[in-house]
Amino acid sequence: MGLDEIKARIAAAEAEADRPAGSVQLIAVSKVQPLERVVSVLEAGHRLFGENKVQEAQGKWPELMGRFDGVSVHLLGPLQTNKAKAAVELFGAIHSLDREKLARKLADLAQARGACPELFVQVNTGEEPQKAGVMPDVADAFVASCRAMDLPLAGLMCIPPVDEAPSLHFGLLRKIAERNGLSGLSMGMSDDFEQAVALGATHVRVGSAIFGARDYG
Ligand SMILES: *Cc1c(COP(=O)(O)O)cnc(C)c1O
Repeated sequence: MGLDEIKARIAAAEAEADRPAGSVQLIAVSKVQPLERVVSVLEAGHRLFGENKVQEAQGKWPELMGRFDGVSVHLLGPLQTNKAKAAVELFGAIHSLDREKLARKLADLAQARGACPELFVQVNTGEEPQKAGVMPDVADAFVASCRAMDLPLAGLMCIPPVDEAPSLHFGLLRKIAERNGLSGLSMGMSDDFEQAVALGATHVRVGSAIFGARDYG
């Protein structure tokens, strides 16, 4: 596969859904990938990336941001409050806001810095105990509480259960976003991003279909 093919498939899915060209942002998920693969995607002109871990991102992106202009990296994985400061300094957006304590920490940092990355509230649409994210039935209250802290909410994010039809989860996420007046929808990965585009995704997070399989060796 690769970057060009994924971009073409996103464009086709936008057209199919009668959505304007370019309305979906492609986050190239570079976690665990060898540096040379990441550099080749940068050299192809792509500038939006996703990482799962603060520490891993700190190890590679400051140097790459020095070499390539206009790079933005989004944090997709869980964020501990003790890494929140490092996270707001490095990332252009955080897709894993999922609890009150983290919201308060980010609000304090935003106040001190006078700036804050864009935030997506992660919703555990499959209500899986092992997965991060606020439960769907408390999502509205959590969004309201983030807004009361003046946090810049861009939208919602979900990771559907592996054994269920993702479209049900994408539809649910969209419904929660609409009733809360949120326009951003971070949903869709390598195996299901076209369905996510059809259901309104504004950000798709695609890793292995661009870079190849991750080798956790
Ligand atoms: C790893 C990851 C992705 C990308 O997964 P692929 O299946 O490789 O496309 C997307 N979102 C999150 C939150 C991830 O952790």
